[in-house]
Amino acid sequence: MRPEDWAQEMELREREAGIAEKQLQALRSGPGYSHCKDCGEEIEKERRAIKGVKRCIFCQERYERDFNRCHR
Ligand SMILES: [Zn+2]
Repeated sequence: MRPEDWAQEMELREREAGIAEKQLQALRSGPGYSHCKDCGEEIEKERRAIKGVKRCIFCQERYERDFNRCHR
């Protein structure tokens, strides 16, 4: 590989790493998850404000129903 190709390759990798880092920061920035842990749908803004919310309202209800069924 020529040195200039190598430099280009490194630059590309650094850029990709930077993008990944930004995406991670975006994920961490909110108080809760922005997308449902189960179905991947975006969580309603009102719910997202609640600390520890990981699921959309539908999955949360289903989860709680299953939880209650299993732990009785
Ligand atoms: Zn969901």
